[in-house]
Parts: sequence; structure tokens; C-alpha cells
Amino acid sequence: NKTILLGSRPHGTPTIENFEFTQTDLSPLQEEEVLLKALYVSVDPYMRGRMSDAKSYVAPYEVGKPIMGGVVAEVIDSKNEKLQKGTVVVGNLPWQQYIVHHGKGLNSIDPNMSPLSYHLGILGMPGLTAYFGLLHIGQPKEGETVVVSGAAGAVGTVVGQIAKLKGCRVVGIAGSDDKINFLKNDLGFDEGINYKTTSNIKEAVAAACPDGVDVYFDNVGGEISDAVIFSLNKFARIAICGQISFYNNTSPATGLRVEPILLKKSAMMKGFIVSDYAEEFGKAARELASWVKEGKLQYQETVKEGFDQIPEAFLGLFSGENTGKQLVKVAER
Ligand code: NDP
Repeated sequence: NKTILLGSRPHGTPTIENFEFTQTDLSPLQEEEVLLKALYVSVDPYMRGRMSDAKSYVAPYEVGKPIMGGVVAEVIDSKNEKLQKGTVVVGNLPWQQYIVHHGKGLNSIDPNMSPLSYHLGILGMPGLTAYFGLLHIGQPKEGETVVVSGAAGAVGTVVGQIAKLKGCRVVGIAGSDDKINFLKNDLGFDEGINYKTTSNIKEAVAAACPDGVDVYFDNVGGEISDAVIFSLNKFARIAICGQISFYNNTSPATGLRVEPILLKKSAMMKGFIVSDYAEEFGKAARELASWVKEGKLQYQETVKEGFDQIPEAFLGLFSGENTGKQLVKVAER
């Protein structure tokens, strides 16, 4: 029964050496406990923060303890009436093939409603992040221009498509031509900018947004965001969702002073953590599910196969290996 522990804390960009594989014994089930078989494991950028010991909005992982995150798992044995054998659940679980669990805090999912993996992506945390950040902070209106960075990732792909549903012009910024083609041809984005090959991102944003930028959904921060900010319209809204370009920094980031621009444009910039909206998750998840069912939202995932691939899948987030949600399929149901 393989388990992946935090072997050591990374300094800068994490490497495979920061992860440690071990074996975990399974104790016999006690009352209320269930035995879970992991099916899909989610890897997410926020996990980089938890690998460090700096104080943040979630506690750090402990060295020598399992990495935890979003997992879809099947109940394969049960001493819990509410979680019968065969039930599929999603929860915050260790990176472990089989897990003896106390049975609390797991959400049952309906395998007939949508593919199981969707609950780690478009119907799970990343989808909800896109929904609340865009609709509550961005407040896009028909005819406005929405720019999203990290556009081809789990959150970005959903942001851009919801903005299209709301009647906006949508411009995505991402790190390869294949990703830009995917955004435009498959997801209906109006324009795309490959930040790795574009020599002047500021000019590229201005050209892609002839009417200026009304909403900027920021997944990455840094120079990309600095470039977008010069195209802001009066009363623009900026949702600070992620700052992945800084997650591996070893010293504090420096850059443009945005305050004079925000002032001049009467613009609003607001950070958020998806859990700020926890009370509204149910309603939002139902709306996302209906959009998916009606074919209004396309869903893309990159799936690696096999438990041993989890660390590599995670590291790939920082080199942009994924299009859409990065997952690892660990076992068949
Ligand atoms: P993604 O699926 O978007 O994967 C990460 C992507 O980031 C990569 O594919 C890569 O794409 C891009 N990237 C990596 N390094 C850099 C860099 N230095 N500069 C620019 N782009 C980079 O991840 P998610 O959709 O899960 O998350 C997107 C962002 O949203 C992250 O910053 C994450 O931390 C944040 N987030 C915030 C939440 C909240 O509650 N506020 C909740 C969930 C996510 P490319 O090829 O384009 O470089």
C-alpha cells in the first residue's frame, strides 16, 4: 500500500527528491470507519505553498507525513452505515493507494451524474474558484472585455468559458501555441497571447483588447499582470486568484506599483480564497453541472496514469505540462 510523504521542504522549484515513497499498513476497520481505494488524485498549485513552512491560509504539510489533497475514492469495505461499500466519495485525503478513514468529511458523489474525475475539476474546487472569482469579483457584463492569465489551466479554461456565456470578449494568456489554439478553436476564446514567445506582452494585450480591459482574472501575477494593468478601463475589476509565477521564489517579489493606475481608473483589485464562498458552493456546483450537461462548458483534463506518477504530475504544473485540469488516475473503479 504505497504512500507519498513530504520528504523535505523545497528551496525554490520543488524536485522529485522532495517526495518520499513509503508503505503503510492497513489496520482492521473499527466502528464508523471505511476502507477507501483511491481512484483519482488531484495535483494543485496551492500544494506548493503547503510544502513550505511559511504561515498561510492552510497549515503546512509536515515533513515525514503524507501529502494531502483532493482525491476521488471508492468505499471498498465499511463499518459505517452512511457510507456503504461501492459508494464513491471525494475528500481531502492522503496520497495513498488504500486509506482507512474515520468516515467524516467525505462527500458522496453520484457516478451516473458525470465522470468521477469532474469532481476534482470543473465541478470541484477549480470550477468553483473560476465561478466565484469571475462572477462575484469580476462581475462581467455583456460586451465587456475579460482577460484571464493561466488561461489554459483548470481554473482559466472555466473562467474564459463562463465569460463567453456572459457575452464578453475573452482574451487568454498562456504558455504555448498549442494552448492558444485550443483556447480559440475548442473553447471559443476570441484571442490568445503566448507569453513565452511574445516579445512585448503589454503591446500584445493592447492589440488583443482594442476596447480596453474591463475584467482581469489573474492566476499568475508578475510581469504578465503588470502588462495587463496598462490596458485597464475605467471601473475595471481585477480578481486575484493565484500568483503561480511567484510560488517558487526564494525572495519577495518586486515590480510595478499599481496603485496610481488603480486610482486613475477607479479600478478594484481583490484577492480571494474559494472557501470564502463555501456557503454558496452547492448552488454554484449545480449551475456548473447544468452548464456542462447542456454543452455550454467544455471540460479538458490531462491525466497521468499510475500512483507513482503523482509527484511528476504535480511538478509539471510549474512547467505548464497540463492543459486543463491535471489529474492522476490511480485505479479503476
Ligand atoms: P493550472 O491548471 O492553471 O496549472 C498551472 C499553470 O500555470 C500551468 O499549466 C502553467 O501554464 C502556468 N504557469 C506555471 N508557471 C507559470 C509562470 N511562472 N508564469 C505564468 N504561468 C505559469 O492550475 P489551476 O487552474 O489549478 O490554478 C491556477 C491558479 O489559481 C494558481 O495560481 C492557483 O494557485 C490558483 N488557485 C487559487 C484558488 C483560490 O482559492 N484563490 C483556488 C484554486 C487555484 P502555462 O503553460 O500557461 O505557463
